[in-house]
Amino acid sequence: MIPPQFDCVRARSVEEAVAVLGEHDNAKLLAGGQSLLPILRLRLADPDMVVDLNRATGMHGIREEGDHLVIGAMTTHYEVMHSERVRRHCGLLAEATATVADPQVRHRGTFGGALSHADPAGDLPAVALAFGTTMVVAGPNGRRSVPASEFFVDYLQTALEPTEVLVEVRVPKLGTASGWGYCYEKFQRVAQAWAIVGVAALVRRSAGAIEEARIGLTNMGSRPLRATATEAALNGAEATAGAIDKAATVAADGTSPASDLSGQADYRQHLARVLTRSAVLTAAGI
Ligand SMILES: Cc1cc2nc3c(=O)[nH]c(=O)nc-3n(C[C@H](O)[C@H](O)[C@H](O)COP(=O)(O)OP(=O)(O)OC[C@H]3O[C@@H](n4cnc5c(N)ncnc54)[C@H](O)[C@@H]3O)c2cc1C
Repeated sequence: MIPPQFDCVRARSVEEAVAVLGEHDNAKLLAGGQSLLPILRLRLADPDMVVDLNRATGMHGIREEGDHLVIGAMTTHYEVMHSERVRRHCGLLAEATATVADPQVRHRGTFGGALSHADPAGDLPAVALAFGTTMVVAGPNGRRSVPASEFFVDYLQTALEPTEVLVEVRVPKLGTASGWGYCYEKFQRVAQAWAIVGVAALVRRSAGAIEEARIGLTNMGSRPLRATATEAALNGAEATAGAIDKAATVAADGTSPASDLSGQADYRQHLARVLTRSAVLTAAGI
């Protein structure tokens, strides 16, 4: 189908994008277009103005700031997964990004677009939640920071106001360089498909114990979730297969996954337990 008619502005800066959003009640931001264009073509959205962010300055690239990586919202999936900084300091993000769709989508799609779209079946929101990232958002009154735990509100809904732009994402350095193991387990129907369920695990262990575990769940509700019961069971537990097996049995507690053509809710909860066990074992190096 052909998208509805709309005007388009190529914003040169974040401030210009915010100003245009403020002038229109029904405007949409365009990043990589990998989610927006299908939505327009299906006529599920009908904006009168599209604000193209591709030439806006200050939204691209990856830099280090102390114990964080700061990733511009317009940084593509391809750039994230091939970044030496991301691999070294936030390896889980590189690993999960490599499972997103196919090379064409990864060359166009952006980190910020994937988080702003907030599809609970998307791989990156659960990873952002597990890391405890912070979103830096620009609006008419300046910038504000929103923790990932407050950013993802509901199905395809974030804490972004209609006049706000996600500018960059601050990701804590929880990588091998600082003693964290990681694993992203994605169960999909065929290669390059969306996750039926995904599990993002970060584990820091000392000699015989798990000091901290952080686990994000993909497609286990209307927004990305943390497997909080498993995390609580793992923190301070012995770093053994038996302890991990036991903790993984509660991985689906508090989740409410959808039933659809790819799987029923109880099947997804079963997958969450199996994938959590596997992801934590790998992240813990067992
Ligand atoms: C065939 C196909 C397969 C896919 N498979 C997967 C998959 O397996 N896993 C996965 O995780 N994803 C998958 N995706 C989605 C892909 O990751 C997209 O890149 C992503 O969802 C959207 O990023 P984008 O940059 O293309 O954003 P766009 O499509 O340009 O925008 C998406 C939404 O976010 C808003 N937005 C974009 N940038 C900003 C910003 N900076 N601030 C505020 N709002 C903003 C837009 O207004 C729009 O509402 C797939 C997409 C396709 C087409």
